[in-house]
Amino acid sequence: MIELSNRLNAMEESATIAMSRKSRELKAAGKDIISLSLGEPDFNTPEFIKDAAKDAMDNNFTKYTPVPGYEDLREAISLKFKRDNDLNYSPDQIVASTGAKQSIANVVLSIVNKGDEVIIPAPFWVSYIEIVKVSEGTPVIVNAGIENDFKITAEQLEEAITPKTKMMIFSTPCNPTGSVYSQEELRSLADVIKKYPQLVVISDEIYEHINFTSKHSSLAQFEDVYEQVVTINGVSKAWAMTGWRLGYIGASKQIANACSKVQGQFTSAPSSISQKATIAALKADPAGLKDMITAFESRRKLVLSALSEIEGVITNVPEGAFYVFPDVSAFFGKAYNGKVIHGSNELAMYLLDEANVALVTGEAFGDPKCIRISYAASEETLTEAMRRVKVALEKLS
Ligand code: PMP
Ligand code: GLU
Repeated sequence: MIELSNRLNAMEESATIAMSRKSRELKAAGKDIISLSLGEPDFNTPEFIKDAAKDAMDNNFTKYTPVPGYEDLREAISLKFKRDNDLNYSPDQIVASTGAKQSIANVVLSIVNKGDEVIIPAPFWVSYIEIVKVSEGTPVIVNAGIENDFKITAEQLEEAITPKTKMMIFSTPCNPTGSVYSQEELRSLADVIKKYPQLVVISDEIYEHINFTSKHSSLAQFEDVYEQVVTINGVSKAWAMTGWRLGYIGASKQIANACSKVQGQFTSAPSSISQKATIAALKADPAGLKDMITAFESRRKLVLSALSEIEGVITNVPEGAFYVFPDVSAFFGKAYNGKVIHGSNELAMYLLDEANVALVTGEAFGDPKCIRISYAASEETLTEAMRRVKVALEKLS
């Protein structure tokens, strides 16, 4: 056996990916599994985007591209930032990568030194903490409970900052809670951030279009923190393009250049074909996303209403993304057939075995009282899944 690196051994497998792999294996073995584990739109990529990809191939856009992406892609991203977010990022402040996941990894690798503290409000998306660990940074978790709609306050942020703090990473709308920071809440965080010029904030806005109540607000809109903020976005969620692997950043030129340097050694650039397809997606009017957003909103209603009928489950009302993150701790300590459920990991396994529904443990997202339900599935599927979950939870006593 080869001895793997300490770096690798210290890293957890992505819980979202592990659960979806497990449910795929069980399905292949003939089990009737409903997987609500992966954060992936169930819609198809729109035809006009696929056509742009076909044109790209036909026109031989099949070679290495500039490391941060084709100039016309970065121009399209620059215009998108202006149009949707009122953010000014010139093409040389933009780096396109192989998914927003790589965008985040580039930024962390570019900025974090061994032992630097990285503030991660919990609940957080699973990969933030592992990317920080691989980069030898020290994650500092700040808990935002369900009673505060899973959002941290400016006071909590300020309390967590030490002379070693280098970065903060958060998402709005949030995966896994669906919480959305309002303009005022972001302003109050910005008031703290501006006092610490060494602090870089990754604002992950990949779910910006999936927002049911308010207009999306970007942290970088505030001029006094603009230079400190890296805005992350991508086409995976809004345009149902998870497999195309295209994410991007808007940042200061210094950070954009650093990310290009990292990327130039790791992956060169995202796929030329995906880049051309992304131009088509970003040039399209986001009003075209309305049907998808309406579908997600009515699925949210369905899931929240089903959960409200299960005694012991507590939820916030997620304003965006396509997740519900209920507190299920009322079931911990209960048992079925002599098997006691000790926490969220065991509850997720119980629901997989007993209800044949795959959900993701809250432990991976930094809140062990909760479990994540991705409602990126048809209403019919969701109705059946929630029926099964209710039956299984009610068996616990
Ligand atoms: N950020 C968040 C909050 C996510 O949920 C995801 C999920 N895929 C990503 C980033 C990464 O997206 P991708 O790599 O598909 O662009
Ligand atoms: N971001 C999605 C999720 O949270 C996709 C899986 C992943 O990349 O982790 O489920």
